[in-house]
Amino acid sequence: MKLDTFLPVAPESHFSIYNLPYGVFTPLAGGPTRVGVAIGNLVLDLALLQKTGFFAGTVLAETAVFSQPNLNAFIALGAAAWNRARTIIQTLLLRENPTLRDNISLRQRAFWPLSAVRLHMPVQISEYTDFYASKEHASNVGAIFGRETPLLENWLHLPIAYHGRASSIVMDGTPIRRPRGQRFDPDRGAPIFAPTAELDFELEIGFFVGPGNSLGQPIPIERAEEQIFGLVLLNDWSARDIQRWEYRPLGPFLGKNFATSISPWVVPLAALQPFRVPAPVQEPPPLPYLQSASRWTYDIHLEARLQTTQMTTAVPISRTNFRYLYWSMAQQIAHHTSNGCNLRAGDLLATGTISGPTPDSAGCLLELSWGGARPIALPGGETRAYLQNGDRLTLTGWCQGEGYRVGFGSLTGLIIA
Ligand code: MN
Repeated sequence: MKLDTFLPVAPESHFSIYNLPYGVFTPLAGGPTRVGVAIGNLVLDLALLQKTGFFAGTVLAETAVFSQPNLNAFIALGAAAWNRARTIIQTLLLRENPTLRDNISLRQRAFWPLSAVRLHMPVQISEYTDFYASKEHASNVGAIFGRETPLLENWLHLPIAYHGRASSIVMDGTPIRRPRGQRFDPDRGAPIFAPTAELDFELEIGFFVGPGNSLGQPIPIERAEEQIFGLVLLNDWSARDIQRWEYRPLGPFLGKNFATSISPWVVPLAALQPFRVPAPVQEPPPLPYLQSASRWTYDIHLEARLQTTQMTTAVPISRTNFRYLYWSMAQQIAHHTSNGCNLRAGDLLATGTISGPTPDSAGCLLELSWGGARPIALPGGETRAYLQNGDRLTLTGWCQGEGYRVGFGSLTGLIIA
């Protein structure tokens, strides 16, 4: 369906009327923190729309879910309320709808330039689970670590994951302090405690779930997508030397939990529906609880860009796509809850590093530099095996429609000593 808005939105803007991502903001001029949606270069104040009565006749009218410092209360309402809100907001922004278009005084109060607001963590994140859903990534990592069969025998049968740390998830723009930690020093044949020498990024997509399930009640795969509120860019910063020394036998710990960054705008799953594409064929077929009648994924272009202190602009160092992922978000939710584990509104799940089939589509430096053995070349003659202090790493992603985009904005972190 063709949609047009009365607001100016450039074709390359990530925030078209087809997108309408949710975020949490405070005007720089002051006032309470509240929920808004981004459109073009503007933020639409949903708390004001709610107070003005635009959500009358819905559950959104009785609850002040948009006058909150996070999206948790809104997420907890579930998919019916999310869809209702989205329809109302999208309709208000249509070019042919005079309600908001011709109400000049309301428009002046309801819209804020993005440059005139401060964005906050969109969700108070209760728990964080990180998957390992890219076959290319898992195979490459296995090969780099010298395994004869790069994929472990369980990998093709279940979406592998570990429980991460919610406390150290930070917003776009938060500087990333190079962590210190214990790692094995091959020259001394002994462990040392020192700043990591192998600081890496991981290009991932995170997704917020809600309202969740009760303990002991698995979410069947056919109901799993109803539990996905929206998606963000996620950078799972990793210290490879710390990780390599500590991970056996229980998996990632301090090599991962010093920082994870997310982008501020949560793209509703509903906005991705026009970009559905068939999911990769799974061979061998997974067990029945991981099988779905309709298997699709989403065509989301993803990029990682690097800017060193010697560079004036960032250059792409990886171009990949969400559609390469072997395990779908629905499979991840179905597997996560298959033992009765309960997910809650505000939980964050992440896909794991998203790597593609070609060398330049790997989603982290561990792969791009093949374990540090083949540093990548940058304009100006610099090379990188891993990140250095002063490096600025940016993730971005978008779906390309005909003359419009549904995008995630960007997610940047500056490495500091
Ligand atoms: Mn990860």
